[in-house]
Amino acid sequence: MRIADNVLVAGARVAGSACAEVLLERGASVTVYDRDDSERLHALAARGATCIIANEFDIELLNGIEQVVLSPGFPPHHPIARAAAVAGIETFSEPELAWRLREPGAARWLAVTGTNGKTTTTTMLAAMLETAGLRTAALGNIGVPLVRAANGPFDVIAVELSSYQLHWSSELAPTAGAVLNLAPDHLDWHGSFDAYAEAKAAVWRGGKAVVNLDDPSVVALAKHVDAEVTGFTLNHPEPGQFGVALGFLVDYTGPEPVQICSVDDVRPAGWHNVANALAAAALARQVGVSHQEIGDALRKYVPEPHRNVTITESGGVTWVDDSKATNPHAAAAALASYDSIVWVAGGQLKGVDVDGLVAQYAPKMRAAVLIGQDRALVADALARHAPDLPVVVLDGRDDAVMTEVAARAVEFAEPGDTVLLSPAGASYDMFTSYAHRGDAFAAAARALLEGEAE
Ligand code: ADP
Repeated sequence: MRIADNVLVAGARVAGSACAEVLLERGASVTVYDRDDSERLHALAARGATCIIANEFDIELLNGIEQVVLSPGFPPHHPIARAAAVAGIETFSEPELAWRLREPGAARWLAVTGTNGKTTTTTMLAAMLETAGLRTAALGNIGVPLVRAANGPFDVIAVELSSYQLHWSSELAPTAGAVLNLAPDHLDWHGSFDAYAEAKAAVWRGGKAVVNLDDPSVVALAKHVDAEVTGFTLNHPEPGQFGVALGFLVDYTGPEPVQICSVDDVRPAGWHNVANALAAAALARQVGVSHQEIGDALRKYVPEPHRNVTITESGGVTWVDDSKATNPHAAAAALASYDSIVWVAGGQLKGVDVDGLVAQYAPKMRAAVLIGQDRALVADALARHAPDLPVVVLDGRDDAVMTEVAARAVEFAEPGDTVLLSPAGASYDMFTSYAHRGDAFAAAARALLEGEAE
């Protein structure tokens, strides 16, 4: 059964509501459940959906339901997921629904997953496809819901998929899929690192796997999958691989190595972004994009905000916003990119340990300024590994704390240093999103430096 007549949509935010709308348009009988009341629910009710707003979902309401579309807020241990499993009701995510609803001639999918770098790689890939003259869009976790866009006027789409979305999938099979890296994140949702990794392997269901050869967990995962593998590495590539040689990104999957572009052409700076560019290149080659087009796209690529992006430079000090680093693995990528750092960190660590991160990168730090819910955990780790490092722990909240952050950071920074917001934790303790946090940091830095200049 690809799409049933009686479907429950659990979670009615942007993607969930789009699923309900599309199902209603197809004549399905749709029940929508959400904990919170919203305009969207009322609009869906007006269009014929049965809307249930309640803190707890009454499992009896599953009677007669044949399929359930789950939003990322519903982990496998959620009562709805459990009850559906017991009753043998199929459960899936919005991208899986989008996949099942594809019409003949619909766009091919090139998919990207991984703990970090998904959005960067997906948008790099879309730039490559566009440069090749293909009708394309970056979709998935980003942009218009897939369920709306997958039948749009596209030849090939670049699709970012999260572990949640992949977990709740069974048929979705992209033309090719990349796993960028695997590090502990979202473990509460998946239950274990193995379950988290396993979910990501679904991106290779189509049989063509782009694999990060420098990440042992990704390589181990690929061993269990029946797919044709194209590997990428930051090392010198062997035949059959993408890699880096003499300062150039190189495709060595053909008889001779072909240079794509210089490492210096890749933005944002940092080796992790070279890895992202190689992954995007390997995917783009799967649909015939030329090396020239890939290089041109990377040269004109405009980085996404809040990902290791320079805000301003003043007095020899560079201020960098990497607010999107919401886990230690992402923060490590940024900390590796600079030499002498005033580190601004903290937020919600989500149970992930920062000890390894701090042990590795404290030697590069001039000082640390800590904020947010788990600031004491970061401070403890710094005290263990770098007892002499100046550390400021700030109690303030919201945007105002960033004014203090900037004022304290500038006291420590010396010419040649980078003041780096790369928090290693989520932002929801103090901000509405990572973007809000990054904007507050950038505004505070600019205000401080303009004040100093006057
Ligand atoms: P995602 O969509 O997976 O969250 P983003 O491209 O938005 O990934 O980047 C999230 C964070 O991870 C940013 O701080 C960015 O600098 C960092 N990052 C990007 N690519 C990588 C990578 N390949 N490895 C580690 N960190 C990365």
